[in-house]
Amino acid sequence: MKKREWEKEKKKAEFRYDPAREKWVIISSARRGRPKITQEDMRICPFCPGNESEIPEPVLIEGDIRVIPNRFPALVNVKIKKNVRKKHFTEFTAPGYHEVVIETLRHDIKPHEIEEEHLSRVIKVYMERYKSISRDRRIKYVIIFKNYGKEAGASISHPHSQIIALPFIPPQIQKEVRNAKKLGCLTCISMRKSKSERRLVFEDEKFAVFCPPVPAFPFETWIVPKEHSGDFLSISASPQKIHSFSSAMIKTFKAMHRYFGDIHFNFMIMSFPAEEKFHWRAEIIPRKNHAIAGFEIATGIMINPFFPDETASEIRRRLR
Ligand SMILES: [Zn+2]
Ligand SMILES: [Zn+2]
Repeated sequence: MKKREWEKEKKKAEFRYDPAREKWVIISSARRGRPKITQEDMRICPFCPGNESEIPEPVLIEGDIRVIPNRFPALVNVKIKKNVRKKHFTEFTAPGYHEVVIETLRHDIKPHEIEEEHLSRVIKVYMERYKSISRDRRIKYVIIFKNYGKEAGASISHPHSQIIALPFIPPQIQKEVRNAKKLGCLTCISMRKSKSERRLVFEDEKFAVFCPPVPAFPFETWIVPKEHSGDFLSISASPQKIHSFSSAMIKTFKAMHRYFGDIHFNFMIMSFPAEEKFHWRAEIIPRKNHAIAGFEIATGIMINPFFPDETASEIRRRLR
């Protein structure tokens, strides 16, 4: 097949690791060409039906949900550079996946307006891709996330989410597992205590929605399965659990919409199937007037003006 103009662009990407700070950085020249949300977006939206020539061939089509490789991938067959002692860098090439889940054909639908049944289907698509990408043995960690709105980093307003697969385990996740081995599962504990500490937003038989005791961001809210498991796919065989998860998402989106209006947010599914000490969860982080500024960059310490019991009560009051 003839390559389209944008497919010929040269792309270069590297992982760089700084062992002193246990930090990974992805440097990806492909990201420079990303679109910006503009007035024109409606007309030229690459995710709208009819504009298929603007996007790569789907890797999965499930009714009106499509999964495509990201046209501006943060990583695909990237080089890894590790800053090690003496030798400044070691270098090796690693695989990566960066996919986009186009959640619907409808350009204008907002997260809180999506029907529960449709969201359940989106979640099943996440699971299918998660399972399939995880089969690649070179992949060590898969993250599913949604950036809704400009404040949250979205560059296209058409409803979509993303899947990124990494050839290593992010240090933040490693740290969490290491500490769970020493301290026990703090997610289980903070879920159990969410009621008495007034951080619980709501719960059903399968999931609890609560504000974590140490929220890095204002209104940070977690959706957590009651059954301890590191694996997001652990709910895949149970329609009841999938329903419970998707309705927890929609209820929370709706309540936040009643509080903030059209709030931009990040939604992440944090899962680590290989590690039984990990407890998978989804996090919702509204993004409003929250700058990561000098102090936060210098120290890694976030300043949050809201206590989690206050935010839980605000969200709780707006549930229907
Ligand atoms: Zn669109
Ligand atoms: Zn747990």
